Amino acid sequence: MVFVLSKQKQPMDNCTPAKARILLRDGSATIHKQYPFTIRLKDNAAHTADKTYQIKLDPGAKITGVALVDSEAHAVFFAELEHRGERIVALLQTRYRKPKWGNSFKKKDSKFNADTRRPEGWLPPSVVSIEQDIVHFVKKMRNLCMIQLAAVESVKFDMQKMENASITDVVYQQGTLMGYEIRHYLLEKKGHACQYCGGLSQDKHLEVEHMHPKSRGGSDRLSNLNVACHTCNQDKDNRTLAEYVERLKSSKTKLDQTRIKRIEQILRTNKTFIGLRYAAWANSMRHHLVADLEKLLPHISQGTGGQTQYNRTTGMGLPKEHYYDALCVGRIPSSGYRLVTDKVLCIKSYGRGSRFRGRTNSCGIITKQLTRQKQFFSFQTGDVVRATVPNGKKKGIHLGRVAVRKSGYFNIQSTGLVVQGVSYKHCRIIQRNDGYGYTLKQRS
Ligand SMILES: [Zn+2]
Repeated sequence: MVFVLSKQKQPMDNCTPAKARILLRDGSATIHKQYPFTIRLKDNAAHTADKTYQIKLDPGAKITGVALVDSEAHAVFFAELEHRGERIVALLQTRYRKPKWGNSFKKKDSKFNADTRRPEGWLPPSVVSIEQDIVHFVKKMRNLCMIQLAAVESVKFDMQKMENASITDVVYQQGTLMGYEIRHYLLEKKGHACQYCGGLSQDKHLEVEHMHPKSRGGSDRLSNLNVACHTCNQDKDNRTLAEYVERLKSSKTKLDQTRIKRIEQILRTNKTFIGLRYAAWANSMRHHLVADLEKLLPHISQGTGGQTQYNRTTGMGLPKEHYYDALCVGRIPSSGYRLVTDKVLCIKSYGRGSRFRGRTNSCGIITKQLTRQKQFFSFQTGDVVRATVPNGKKKGIHLGRVAVRKSGYFNIQSTGLVVQGVSYKHCRIIQRNDGYGYTLKQRS
């Protein structure tokens, strides 16, 4: 769908691409923005503004899914927001460090006495970046359509639901809402990793596993459940953990040795392994996110991961994608949503570059100087450009994100490939750099 603004740049109801084409062709609207595609009317009378929208978010450490639904249960817009948390960690580790030999004793002393405790509610810079990406995106979307409500997946599982009984006695039943809640509880607790091989088998498909096999009288209670990858689960078959270790001892492969080590530890301590560094911050981040969104929008509703998965598989029958997860966050109408768009906007967070004009190696020592100037021939790295090259090797039309060079020969990055050495003379700006890169893909 296409976003529509009034002459005064106020949000109106969005329209179909076909209607937008007609409006643009007969000159009653102009293109306001390329990504997400937005037009601005020259005469407001021809268009209505009475729909309200709900933005649905599924925050993740790497990618956040976004879906926009209108008051008539139409899903009008999908997006995937790719974060740069890991990039920020890398930048912090290789940043330029001032040489230490110039410091006086007095300075060292004050540094020694400084209060280095972190203030309450502190989050690591990489996690702050993720949270701010999402808040910033909601702010921008609010300028394009009348968003009244936000639904956020704020926790991975519903503790209340599971604390009716003592938590280890909760009974697991596949395919039910409760079953999904338990699955998410287990995944979160075990750090989204196979408990037997620790991810060494390269199998990404994780399953809920009965430590004492069900076929031999093992219970469905949480205390008997574990997370294992499909490979390990198949390999273990209907053995108990002790029997499985015995069988593995005949093998000398690295994978089996790892399994023995980990399973013996599970048997000894009844404790499990936790991986994934983001998991520790994830709940804290979602908490901050909800608090920030409450300042922006009148109503926020919250959902759980188990509920999302139940809605997506049982309610809507959709495949696993970040944007479908977002669509199924919280409560959904009993008849589901009608999907009226077939495109997904992929947004990648790049940041706006840094003030520091140099490159450092892994020790934090400057190895390259950059120019102070950031704009060349009125282009800046990050602008979306359309280059029409009339002849030569690079003949054709290239649309994408530009990386500027002092020489005037730029690199243009479109989906998947980079075209190098395109002259600035052939380039035309489509959208100025706003710290994000945009591509469109087909909905699956
Ligand atoms: Zn495994």
